[in-house]
Amino acid sequence: QCIMACPVGALHEKENIKEVWMAISNPEKFVVVQTAPAVRVALGEEFGMPIGTRVTGKMVAALRRLGFDKVFDTDFGADLTIMEEGTELLNRLNKGERLPLMTSCCPGWVKFVEHYYPEMTENLSTCKSPSEMEGALIKTYFAEKMGIDPKNIVTVSIMPCVGKKFEGQREELSHNGLQDVDYVLTTRELAQMIKEAGIDFVNLPDEEFDNPFGESTGAGVIFGATGGVTEAALRTIYEIVTGKELENIEITAVRGVEGIKEAEIELNGKVVKAAIAHGLANARRVLEMVKSGEKHYDFIEVMACPGGCVTGGGQPIVDAKTRERVDVRVERAKAIYEEDRHLPIRKSHKNPYVIRLYEEFLGEPNSHKSHELLHTHYVKREKY
Ligand code: SF4
Repeated sequence: QCIMACPVGALHEKENIKEVWMAISNPEKFVVVQTAPAVRVALGEEFGMPIGTRVTGKMVAALRRLGFDKVFDTDFGADLTIMEEGTELLNRLNKGERLPLMTSCCPGWVKFVEHYYPEMTENLSTCKSPSEMEGALIKTYFAEKMGIDPKNIVTVSIMPCVGKKFEGQREELSHNGLQDVDYVLTTRELAQMIKEAGIDFVNLPDEEFDNPFGESTGAGVIFGATGGVTEAALRTIYEIVTGKELENIEITAVRGVEGIKEAEIELNGKVVKAAIAHGLANARRVLEMVKSGEKHYDFIEVMACPGGCVTGGGQPIVDAKTRERVDVRVERAKAIYEEDRHLPIRKSHKNPYVIRLYEEFLGEPNSHKSHELLHTHYVKREKY
Protein backbone atom coordinates (compact mmCIF):
# COMPACT_ATOMS: atom_id res chain seq x y z
CA GLN A 1 0.00 0.00 0.00
CA CYS A 2 1.22 3.50 -0.83
CA ILE A 3 0.97 4.62 2.78
CA MET A 4 4.64 3.71 3.12
CA ALA A 5 5.83 5.62 0.07
CA CYS A 6 3.32 8.39 -0.52
CA PRO A 7 5.18 11.71 -0.77
CA VAL A 8 2.22 13.92 0.13
CA GLY A 9 2.23 13.82 3.88
CA ALA A 10 0.12 10.70 3.92
CA LEU A 11 1.94 9.41 6.96
CA HIS A 12 0.15 12.10 8.93
CA GLU A 13 -3.28 10.75 8.00
CA LYS A 14 -5.78 12.91 9.84
CA GLU A 15 -9.13 11.42 10.62
CA ASN A 16 -12.09 13.59 9.72
CA ILE A 17 -14.90 11.36 10.91
CA LYS A 18 -15.86 13.61 13.83
CA GLU A 19 -16.11 16.74 11.65
CA VAL A 20 -18.27 14.88 9.12
CA TRP A 21 -20.64 13.57 11.82
CA MET A 22 -20.96 17.13 13.14
CA ALA A 23 -21.79 18.49 9.68
CA ILE A 24 -24.42 15.79 9.13
CA SER A 25 -26.10 16.56 12.45
CA ASN A 26 -26.12 20.33 11.81
CA PRO A 27 -29.58 21.16 10.35
CA GLU A 28 -28.19 24.29 8.67
CA LYS A 29 -25.73 22.31 6.58
CA PHE A 30 -26.47 20.52 3.32
CA VAL A 31 -23.93 17.72 3.24
CA VAL A 32 -23.04 16.22 -0.11
CA VAL A 33 -20.86 13.14 -0.51
CA GLN A 34 -19.11 11.72 -3.57
CA THR A 35 -17.24 8.44 -3.93
CA ALA A 36 -14.16 7.63 -6.03
CA PRO A 37 -14.16 4.66 -8.46
CA ALA A 38 -11.78 2.48 -6.42
CA VAL A 39 -13.82 2.67 -3.19
CA ARG A 40 -16.68 0.51 -4.52
CA VAL A 41 -14.39 -2.43 -5.27
CA ALA A 42 -12.75 -2.52 -1.82
CA LEU A 43 -15.22 -1.29 0.82
CA GLY A 44 -16.88 -4.72 1.07
CA GLU A 45 -13.62 -6.21 2.38
CA GLU A 46 -14.12 -4.26 5.63
CA PHE A 47 -17.32 -6.28 6.09
CA GLY A 48 -15.86 -9.69 5.36
CA MET A 49 -16.60 -9.81 1.63
CA PRO A 50 -14.02 -11.32 -0.76
CA ILE A 51 -11.36 -9.09 -2.38
CA GLY A 52 -12.70 -7.77 -5.66
CA THR A 53 -16.39 -7.67 -4.66
CA ARG A 54 -18.30 -4.76 -6.22
CA VAL A 55 -20.52 -3.08 -3.65
CA THR A 56 -21.56 0.08 -5.50
CA GLY A 57 -25.29 -0.13 -4.70
CA LYS A 58 -24.79 -1.07 -1.03
CA MET A 59 -22.25 1.74 -0.61
CA VAL A 60 -24.79 4.27 -1.92
CA ALA A 61 -27.47 2.84 0.40
CA ALA A 62 -25.11 3.07 3.38
CA LEU A 63 -24.21 6.69 2.64
CA ARG A 64 -27.90 7.61 2.53
CA ARG A 65 -28.50 5.89 5.85
CA LEU A 66 -25.57 7.79 7.38
CA GLY A 67 -27.54 10.97 6.65
CA PHE A 68 -25.84 12.57 3.64
CA ASP A 69 -28.26 14.84 1.77
CA LYS A 70 -27.03 13.84 -1.69
CA VAL A 71 -24.88 10.91 -2.79
CA PHE A 72 -22.89 11.67 -5.93
CA ASP A 73 -20.36 9.70 -7.94
CA THR A 74 -16.80 10.98 -8.54
CA ASP A 75 -16.95 8.99 -11.79
CA PHE A 76 -19.01 11.90 -13.14
CA GLY A 77 -16.04 14.17 -12.37
CA ALA A 78 -13.81 11.63 -14.12
CA ASP A 79 -15.96 11.88 -17.26
CA LEU A 80 -15.66 15.64 -17.06
CA THR A 81 -11.88 15.36 -16.63
CA ILE A 82 -11.71 13.42 -19.88
CA MET A 83 -13.60 16.21 -21.67
CA GLU A 84 -11.33 18.91 -20.26
CA GLU A 85 -8.01 17.05 -20.38
CA GLY A 86 -8.75 15.51 -23.78
CA THR A 87 -9.41 18.98 -25.20
CA GLU A 88 -6.26 20.28 -23.52
CA LEU A 89 -4.23 17.47 -25.13
CA LEU A 90 -5.66 18.19 -28.57
CA ASN A 91 -4.89 21.91 -28.18
CA ARG A 92 -1.32 21.22 -27.09
CA LEU A 93 -0.83 18.73 -29.95
CA ASN A 94 -2.09 21.33 -32.43
CA LYS A 95 0.24 23.99 -31.06
CA GLY A 96 3.09 21.55 -30.40
CA GLU A 97 3.64 23.01 -26.94
CA ARG A 98 4.03 21.76 -23.36
CA LEU A 99 4.22 18.13 -24.46
CA PRO A 100 4.10 15.52 -23.14
CA LEU A 101 0.89 16.38 -21.35
CA MET A 102 1.04 14.73 -17.93
CA THR A 103 -2.05 13.69 -15.96
CA SER A 104 -2.89 15.60 -12.80
CA CYS A 105 -5.54 13.54 -11.01
CA CYS A 106 -3.16 11.89 -8.52
CA PRO A 107 -1.98 14.23 -5.73
CA GLY A 108 1.00 11.98 -4.91
CA TRP A 109 2.29 12.30 -8.47
CA VAL A 110 1.54 16.04 -8.71
CA LYS A 111 3.47 16.76 -5.53
CA PHE A 112 6.31 14.51 -6.68
CA VAL A 113 6.65 16.63 -9.85
CA GLU A 114 6.45 19.85 -7.82
CA HIS A 115 9.32 18.71 -5.58
CA TYR A 116 11.56 16.67 -7.86
CA TYR A 117 10.83 17.89 -11.42
CA PRO A 118 9.75 21.53 -10.90
CA GLU A 119 10.94 22.34 -14.42
CA MET A 120 8.17 20.02 -15.68
CA THR A 121 5.21 21.42 -13.73
CA GLU A 122 4.00 23.15 -16.89
CA ASN A 123 3.67 19.74 -18.54
CA LEU A 124 1.07 18.79 -15.93
CA SER A 125 -2.50 19.11 -17.14
CA THR A 126 -4.11 22.17 -15.59
CA CYS A 127 -7.20 20.06 -14.83
CA LYS A 128 -8.17 19.71 -11.21
CA SER A 129 -8.70 16.11 -10.11
CA PRO A 130 -12.18 14.63 -10.71
CA SER A 131 -13.27 15.02 -7.08
CA GLU A 132 -12.11 18.65 -6.93
CA MET A 133 -13.91 19.44 -10.21
CA GLU A 134 -17.06 17.91 -8.82
CA GLY A 135 -16.68 19.77 -5.52
CA ALA A 136 -16.40 23.08 -7.41
CA LEU A 137 -19.54 22.30 -9.41
CA ILE A 138 -21.50 21.24 -6.31
CA LYS A 139 -20.87 24.68 -4.79
CA THR A 140 -21.77 26.56 -8.00
CA TYR A 141 -23.92 24.81 -10.63
CA PHE A 142 -25.71 22.49 -8.17
CA ALA A 143 -26.07 25.18 -5.47
CA GLU A 144 -27.63 27.52 -8.03
CA LYS A 145 -30.02 24.81 -9.28
CA MET A 146 -31.11 23.96 -5.73
CA GLY A 147 -31.22 27.55 -4.47
CA ILE A 148 -28.79 26.78 -1.63
CA ASP A 149 -26.20 29.25 -0.36
CA PRO A 150 -22.86 27.56 -1.15
CA LYS A 151 -21.61 28.62 2.28
CA ASN A 152 -24.08 26.12 3.75
CA ILE A 153 -22.93 23.25 1.58
CA VAL A 154 -20.37 20.82 2.98
CA THR A 155 -18.64 18.61 0.41
CA VAL A 156 -17.21 15.27 1.49
CA SER A 157 -15.15 13.01 -0.78
CA ILE A 158 -14.72 9.31 -0.03
CA MET A 159 -11.35 8.39 -1.49
CA PRO A 160 -9.01 5.37 -1.58
CA CYS A 161 -6.26 7.87 -0.90
CA VAL A 162 -4.65 9.60 2.07
CA GLY A 163 -2.91 12.09 -0.26
CA LYS A 164 -6.34 13.49 -1.17
CA LYS A 165 -6.56 14.92 2.35
CA PHE A 166 -3.62 17.16 1.46
CA GLU A 167 -5.06 17.93 -1.97
CA GLY A 168 -8.37 19.01 -0.41
CA GLN A 169 -6.56 21.69 1.59
CA ARG A 170 -4.58 23.22 -1.30
CA GLU A 171 -5.66 26.86 -1.29
CA GLU A 172 -5.73 27.06 -5.09
CA LEU A 173 -8.44 24.36 -5.11
CA SER A 174 -11.13 26.79 -4.03
CA HIS A 175 -13.58 29.27 -5.48
CA ASN A 176 -14.95 32.48 -3.93
CA GLY A 177 -13.14 31.67 -0.70
CA LEU A 178 -14.73 28.22 -0.34
CA GLN A 179 -12.71 25.00 -0.63
CA ASP A 180 -14.00 22.75 -3.42
CA VAL A 181 -13.80 19.74 -1.09
CA ASP A 182 -14.25 20.31 2.64
CA TYR A 183 -13.45 16.85 4.00
CA VAL A 184 -11.81 13.76 2.59
CA LEU A 185 -12.55 10.41 4.20
CA THR A 186 -10.71 7.26 3.23
CA THR A 187 -12.43 3.97 2.40
CA ARG A 188 -11.39 2.75 5.87
CA GLU A 189 -12.88 5.81 7.56
CA LEU A 190 -16.17 5.32 5.70
CA ALA A 191 -16.24 1.69 6.88
CA GLN A 192 -15.70 2.92 10.42
CA MET A 193 -18.64 5.34 10.16
CA ILE A 194 -20.87 2.57 8.82
CA LYS A 195 -19.85 0.37 11.77
CA GLU A 196 -20.36 3.21 14.28
CA ALA A 197 -23.88 3.71 12.89
CA GLY A 198 -24.64 -0.01 13.35
CA ILE A 199 -25.63 -0.46 9.68
CA ASP A 200 -25.86 -4.07 8.51
CA PHE A 201 -23.84 -3.38 5.35
CA VAL A 202 -23.87 -6.85 3.83
CA ASN A 203 -27.68 -7.03 3.82
CA LEU A 204 -28.33 -3.54 2.44
CA PRO A 205 -30.33 -3.28 -0.79
CA ASP A 206 -28.64 -1.81 -3.87
CA GLU A 207 -29.47 1.86 -4.40
CA GLU A 208 -28.65 4.36 -7.15
CA PHE A 209 -26.59 7.58 -6.97
CA ASP A 210 -28.42 10.93 -7.04
CA ASN A 211 -28.39 13.17 -10.06
CA PRO A 212 -27.09 15.39 -11.64
CA PHE A 213 -23.71 13.99 -10.60
CA GLY A 214 -24.71 10.36 -10.25
CA GLU A 215 -24.73 9.39 -13.89
CA SER A 216 -21.36 8.19 -15.07
CA THR A 217 -19.85 5.97 -17.72
CA GLY A 218 -17.53 2.97 -17.85
CA ALA A 219 -14.77 5.39 -18.81
CA GLY A 220 -15.19 7.18 -15.48
CA VAL A 221 -14.95 4.03 -13.38
CA ILE A 222 -11.73 2.71 -14.97
CA PHE A 223 -9.86 5.74 -13.55
CA GLY A 224 -9.48 3.50 -10.47
CA ALA A 225 -6.89 1.21 -12.11
CA THR A 226 -3.54 2.09 -13.66
CA GLY A 227 -3.99 2.81 -17.38
CA GLY A 228 -7.62 3.77 -16.87
CA VAL A 229 -7.23 7.49 -17.51
CA THR A 230 -5.40 6.81 -20.78
CA GLU A 231 -7.97 4.27 -21.91
CA ALA A 232 -10.85 6.61 -21.08
CA ALA A 233 -9.12 9.52 -22.85
CA LEU A 234 -8.43 7.45 -25.97
CA ARG A 235 -12.06 6.29 -26.16
CA THR A 236 -13.17 9.93 -26.37
CA ILE A 237 -10.33 11.63 -28.26
CA TYR A 238 -10.42 9.08 -31.07
CA GLU A 239 -14.12 9.66 -31.71
CA ILE A 240 -13.93 13.44 -31.41
CA VAL A 241 -10.96 13.77 -33.78
CA THR A 242 -11.88 11.18 -36.39
CA GLY A 243 -15.67 11.43 -36.20
CA LYS A 244 -15.69 7.61 -36.35
CA GLU A 245 -16.94 5.20 -33.73
CA LEU A 246 -14.21 3.36 -31.82
CA GLU A 247 -15.30 -0.24 -32.13
CA ASN A 248 -12.89 -2.02 -29.84
CA ILE A 249 -13.14 0.16 -26.76
CA GLU A 250 -11.28 -2.21 -24.42
CA ILE A 251 -7.72 -1.01 -24.99
CA THR A 252 -5.83 -3.90 -23.43
CA ALA A 253 -2.33 -2.50 -24.13
CA VAL A 254 -2.82 -0.01 -21.30
CA ARG A 255 -4.18 -2.55 -18.78
CA GLY A 256 -2.30 -4.76 -16.34
CA VAL A 257 0.35 -4.32 -13.67
CA GLU A 258 3.50 -3.98 -15.76
CA GLY A 259 5.43 -0.99 -14.33
CA ILE A 260 5.60 1.02 -17.55
CA LYS A 261 3.24 0.50 -20.49
CA GLU A 262 3.09 2.21 -23.85
CA ALA A 263 0.25 2.75 -26.30
CA GLU A 264 -0.15 4.43 -29.66
CA ILE A 265 -3.21 5.70 -31.42
CA GLU A 266 -3.51 7.13 -34.93
CA LEU A 267 -5.57 10.28 -35.17
CA ASN A 268 -6.17 11.39 -38.75
CA GLY A 269 -2.74 10.20 -39.87
CA LYS A 270 -0.84 11.44 -36.80
CA VAL A 271 0.45 8.90 -34.29
CA VAL A 272 -0.05 9.91 -30.64
CA LYS A 273 2.18 8.08 -28.16
CA ALA A 274 1.28 7.51 -24.53
CA ALA A 275 3.18 6.11 -21.55
CA ILE A 276 1.56 4.80 -18.41
CA ALA A 277 3.47 4.37 -15.17
CA HIS A 278 2.40 3.36 -11.68
CA GLY A 279 4.57 3.70 -8.60
CA LEU A 280 6.88 6.71 -8.37
CA ALA A 281 10.06 4.77 -9.20
CA ASN A 282 8.54 3.92 -12.59
CA ALA A 283 7.39 7.51 -13.01
CA ARG A 284 10.93 8.71 -12.44
CA ARG A 285 12.22 6.26 -15.07
CA VAL A 286 9.73 7.61 -17.61
CA LEU A 287 10.63 11.24 -16.90
CA GLU A 288 14.36 10.53 -17.12
CA MET A 289 13.87 8.79 -20.49
CA VAL A 290 11.92 11.80 -21.74
CA LYS A 291 14.50 14.28 -20.46
CA SER A 292 17.41 12.40 -22.02
CA GLY A 293 15.60 12.21 -25.36
CA GLU A 294 15.60 8.39 -25.27
CA LYS A 295 11.81 8.36 -25.53
CA HIS A 296 9.20 10.66 -26.94
CA TYR A 297 5.66 10.68 -25.63
CA ASP A 298 2.70 13.00 -26.17
CA PHE A 299 0.81 11.89 -23.07
CA ILE A 300 1.96 10.44 -19.74
CA GLU A 301 -0.33 8.97 -17.12
CA VAL A 302 1.08 8.40 -13.67
CA MET A 303 -0.52 6.97 -10.55
CA ALA A 304 1.69 7.07 -7.47
CA CYS A 305 0.37 3.83 -5.96
CA PRO A 306 1.31 0.45 -7.42
CA GLY A 307 -1.68 -0.68 -9.48
CA GLY A 308 -3.30 2.76 -9.24
CA CYS A 309 -5.97 3.88 -6.78
CA VAL A 310 -7.25 0.34 -6.18
CA THR A 311 -4.36 -0.10 -3.73
CA GLY A 312 -4.32 3.45 -2.40
CA GLY A 313 -3.19 4.12 1.16
CA GLY A 314 -6.77 4.64 2.37
CA GLN A 315 -8.05 1.28 1.18
CA PRO A 316 -8.74 -1.72 3.47
CA ILE A 317 -5.50 -3.28 4.62
CA VAL A 318 -4.88 -6.81 3.42
CA ASP A 319 -2.78 -9.01 5.70
CA ALA A 320 0.55 -10.36 4.49
CA LYS A 321 -0.66 -13.98 4.36
CA THR A 322 -3.53 -13.11 2.04
CA ARG A 323 -1.21 -10.99 -0.10
CA GLU A 324 1.00 -14.05 -0.61
CA ARG A 325 -1.84 -15.86 -2.37
CA VAL A 326 -3.83 -13.01 -3.91
CA ASP A 327 -2.61 -10.11 -6.05
CA VAL A 328 -4.86 -7.43 -4.58
CA ARG A 329 -4.10 -5.03 -7.45
CA VAL A 330 -5.30 -7.57 -10.00
CA GLU A 331 -8.47 -8.65 -8.12
CA ARG A 332 -9.67 -5.11 -7.42
CA ALA A 333 -8.83 -4.01 -10.99
CA LYS A 334 -10.84 -6.96 -12.35
CA ALA A 335 -13.84 -5.65 -10.42
CA ILE A 336 -13.28 -2.17 -11.90
CA TYR A 337 -13.30 -3.53 -15.46
CA GLU A 338 -16.37 -5.65 -14.66
CA GLU A 339 -18.17 -2.49 -13.51
CA ASP A 340 -17.17 -0.81 -16.81
CA ARG A 341 -18.61 -3.72 -18.82
CA HIS A 342 -21.90 -3.54 -16.90
CA LEU A 343 -22.51 0.15 -17.57
CA PRO A 344 -24.74 1.06 -20.52
CA ILE A 345 -22.58 4.05 -21.56
CA ARG A 346 -18.80 3.56 -21.66
CA LYS A 347 -17.47 6.79 -23.19
CA SER A 348 -17.25 10.07 -21.27
CA HIS A 349 -18.47 12.31 -24.11
CA LYS A 350 -21.69 10.26 -24.27
CA ASN A 351 -22.63 10.97 -20.63
CA PRO A 352 -25.98 12.82 -20.99
CA TYR A 353 -25.45 14.81 -17.78
CA VAL A 354 -21.98 15.92 -18.91
CA ILE A 355 -23.51 17.06 -22.21
CA ARG A 356 -26.23 18.92 -20.32
CA LEU A 357 -23.72 20.54 -17.96
CA TYR A 358 -21.85 22.04 -20.93
CA GLU A 359 -25.11 23.19 -22.54
CA GLU A 360 -26.54 24.76 -19.40
CA PHE A 361 -23.50 26.07 -17.58
CA LEU A 362 -19.95 25.61 -18.85
CA GLY A 363 -20.37 26.30 -22.56
CA GLU A 364 -17.68 24.04 -23.95
CA PRO A 365 -14.58 22.17 -22.72
CA ASN A 366 -11.74 24.57 -21.78
CA SER A 367 -14.15 27.54 -21.87
CA HIS A 368 -13.54 30.58 -19.68
CA LYS A 369 -15.96 29.22 -17.07
CA SER A 370 -14.37 25.75 -17.19
CA HIS A 371 -10.99 27.35 -16.57
CA GLU A 372 -12.31 29.35 -13.66
CA LEU A 373 -13.87 26.32 -11.94
CA LEU A 374 -12.19 23.17 -13.19
CA HIS A 375 -8.55 24.10 -13.76
CA THR A 376 -5.69 24.97 -11.44
CA HIS A 377 -1.97 25.76 -11.29
CA TYR A 378 1.04 24.23 -9.55
CA VAL A 379 3.76 25.27 -7.17
CA LYS A 380 7.47 24.69 -7.70
CA ARG A 381 8.60 23.28 -4.34
CA GLU A 382 11.95 22.64 -2.68
CA LYS A 383 13.40 19.15 -2.83
CA TYR A 384 13.01 17.33 0.50
FE1 SF4 B 1 -4.15 8.62 -4.25
FE2 SF4 B 1 -4.77 7.07 -6.34
FE3 SF4 B 1 -2.65 8.66 -6.41
FE4 SF4 B 1 -2.60 6.55 -4.80
S1 SF4 B 1 -2.73 6.50 -7.05
S2 SF4 B 1 -1.90 8.64 -4.27
S3 SF4 B 1 -4.75 6.46 -4.18
S4 SF4 B 1 -4.79 9.30 -6.28
